[in-house]
Amino acid sequence: MANRWTLAQAQALFDKPFLELMFEAQQVHRQHFDPRQVQVSTLLSIKTGACPEDCKYCPQSARYKTGLESERLMEVEAVLASARKAKAAGSSRFCMGAAWKNPHERDMPYLEQMVQGVKALGMETCMTLGTLEQTQAQRLAEAGLDFYNHNLDTSPEFYGSVITTRTYQERLDTLDKVRDAGIKVCSGGIVGLGETVTDRAGLLVQLANLPVPPESVPINMLVKVKGTPMADNADVEPFDFIRTIAVARIMMPSSHVRLSAGREQMSEQTQAMCFMAGANSIFYGCKLLTTPNPEEDKDLILFRKLGLNPEHTTTASGDNAQQHQLQAQLAEADTPQFYNAAV
Ligand code: SF4
Repeated sequence: MANRWTLAQAQALFDKPFLELMFEAQQVHRQHFDPRQVQVSTLLSIKTGACPEDCKYCPQSARYKTGLESERLMEVEAVLASARKAKAAGSSRFCMGAAWKNPHERDMPYLEQMVQGVKALGMETCMTLGTLEQTQAQRLAEAGLDFYNHNLDTSPEFYGSVITTRTYQERLDTLDKVRDAGIKVCSGGIVGLGETVTDRAGLLVQLANLPVPPESVPINMLVKVKGTPMADNADVEPFDFIRTIAVARIMMPSSHVRLSAGREQMSEQTQAMCFMAGANSIFYGCKLLTTPNPEEDKDLILFRKLGLNPEHTTTASGDNAQQHQLQAQLAEADTPQFYNAAV
């Protein structure tokens, strides 16, 4: 059984002087990962908007008027066409997200075909579809699903101020089912919901104390969308966000910590500090669900400036072509021709 974290221990990490925390996080990071490697994923919204849940930060909830156009579940072939593009751009993992409370049985065959099709391209597969039944988790696992994303979002204590239509326990139950089905877990949270530092510590304690910590831990910065109840939330101080990444790295040393939503609003320097704090995964592509993500070429340029490389993922077919493609692009990223070609 892994080390069980207490809230006091997590809080003590948040209370450390910033540079000491960064030093500790970087040391832990280097014990478990190559500090120059960053895992790169692409996220596609396969079913957008009209979600019955009431997550107060989310433009996809049917309860808020954000001007977002709803779209039905995408055709399998259209999803696979996007996956091929992501692979060509260098992504090693393709994440498919649907704005649902839970998938319906009638959707399952299509979801299975998507997983099988993306897998056949030699990419890792990830889905985020809301609450799952055990049989659904099993079917997705059998189709070849590698990861399932289901975020805890925040601490159990603050959770009720953010979402009322799904309980914290339901979320934990879904994570258990995913794990029992043999799928790897991706679960994290959001900074900027109006939570306290203790809530941030509480979220990380929940994640780190799962029977097996998530293999992937996305830490999101709230993207404030007009029309949602959190549109006017106070900005988060970048150092507080970086601190959250660093504490996540120390508490879950073997997990990939993902710098996720909100990156568009961050300076290159803030992103660099996040990598220094132990973030080693990003979303790469022009759309992060429905919110803007840095253009692909900006990411390549930042990788180049920081000397970062996309992580190699040896898929079942042993095909690393997509990483080679991204590395080739990185190698060219300092030439003017590349900037022109990529825009
Ligand atoms: S369940 Fe997901 S899509 Fe639906 S409102 Fe919550 S965050 Fe948005």
